[in-house]
Amino acid sequence: LDKTCIKEGQAEIRLTNEKVFYNPVQEFNRDLSIAVLSVFTQDFKAEKIAKGRKNVKNLSENIVEDAVGTGGNIEVPVTILEALSATGLRSIRYAKEIPNITKILANDLSEQAVETIKANIVHNGVESLIDTSHDDACMLMYKHKHPAKRFAAIDLDPYGCPSIFLDSAVQSVQDGGLLLVTATDMAVLAGNSPETCYSKYGAISLKTKCCHEMALRILLQCIEQHANRYSRYIVPLLSISADFYIRVFVKIYSGAIHCKKSTSKLSMVYHCVGCDNTVLQPLGGFKPNPTEKNPDQMKAFLPPAPPVGEHCEHCNQRHHLGGPIWSAPIHDELFVTRVLSHVEENPQLLGTAKRIQGILSMVREELADVPLYYTLDKLFGRVHLETMPMLVMRSALLNAGHRVSYSHAARLSVKTNAPARFLWDVVRHW
Ligand code: SAM
Repeated sequence: LDKTCIKEGQAEIRLTNEKVFYNPVQEFNRDLSIAVLSVFTQDFKAEKIAKGRKNVKNLSENIVEDAVGTGGNIEVPVTILEALSATGLRSIRYAKEIPNITKILANDLSEQAVETIKANIVHNGVESLIDTSHDDACMLMYKHKHPAKRFAAIDLDPYGCPSIFLDSAVQSVQDGGLLLVTATDMAVLAGNSPETCYSKYGAISLKTKCCHEMALRILLQCIEQHANRYSRYIVPLLSISADFYIRVFVKIYSGAIHCKKSTSKLSMVYHCVGCDNTVLQPLGGFKPNPTEKNPDQMKAFLPPAPPVGEHCEHCNQRHHLGGPIWSAPIHDELFVTRVLSHVEENPQLLGTAKRIQGILSMVREELADVPLYYTLDKLFGRVHLETMPMLVMRSALLNAGHRVSYSHAARLSVKTNAPARFLWDVVRHW
């Protein structure tokens, strides 16, 4: 068995230099990204064509031909940057497995990596689709921040924390383009080092039962804050916690008015050190502005005093303050449904299709408007009781008229709009 030759999806890569990074466990990450990009690039192209046709109607005749091309077809370049490419495996798979892509730029700072990428491109016969670049990812992205040079999608898959790449990345994605970000520093994001989390992500992480979703929401707030500096904002399409990392897929748009709404999508988190209860406090909100004729012109307001006192109402213990976190939806249900259908219709295309189907089915059921979750084992562990069956807890919540779902991020999770007081009542009566 030749260990230096690896097959994944439709790519076959050669690992000729052991210093170049390759991780077989990330196959799921690459498969999921291919499924997401397949649906995204299709939409992206269709939107640009629709917009192009609208613009063409308003153009004088001599420039119509330039805009639509001689065959009457509107050419839509769909360019992707893999900013930290290592072996080139991901870029080669994107080139071979996603139909709508017109060009991929595979970049790495390491000379050995770029040599490996070049050799693998030739080995896979995708020279016409992939260009290589040997540069610092940030410098490369800054060179592409002019609107005419931006990418349709940028993939950031670094070691550990991605935050140093975000300032340049949020400026170099086209309007309506996609940013794909991996973070593997889970210990920092999950509350083991709240100070480090603050210095890297601008938010304090908490050691809590829902730390995996907190990690996703900390990363999303970090991207939003970087985008807001350039009057841009994010719309999350899919946010996944898997294995030892998290991965988010967000669209980036421009619009100063929308940026004013960001405070209403971010919250501080009060976390009880006794019973692990969490209460969210939005950084701001929006209400109708009576002085405006247009009802869409909402007035921003700062939130009232914190909703919790110094001590927790359930166990009288102290609170820790964490955040800010992204508290708006972390997935787009319609988009997730379409990615799921795409994978269900083409299960033979992806090695981890079954796992993707399982996770996306759960994601689709998640209560989109309820941030964070309880976990049954932690809830009962706090009071040293044997854990009740999930079915009993879910029935208790549903019978009382509350909504309930799992979170894909934890096996025994309970996402619900019921007040914490109700859950403690259920625990007490068990
Ligand atoms: N995306 C790859 C995949 O799916 O197989 C794995 C990427 S690996 C985790 C991270 C890569 O980033 C390494 O090859 C490293 O050389 C490169 N790198 C680190 N810092 C960089 C920088 N500032 N600019 C560009 N590349 C960088």
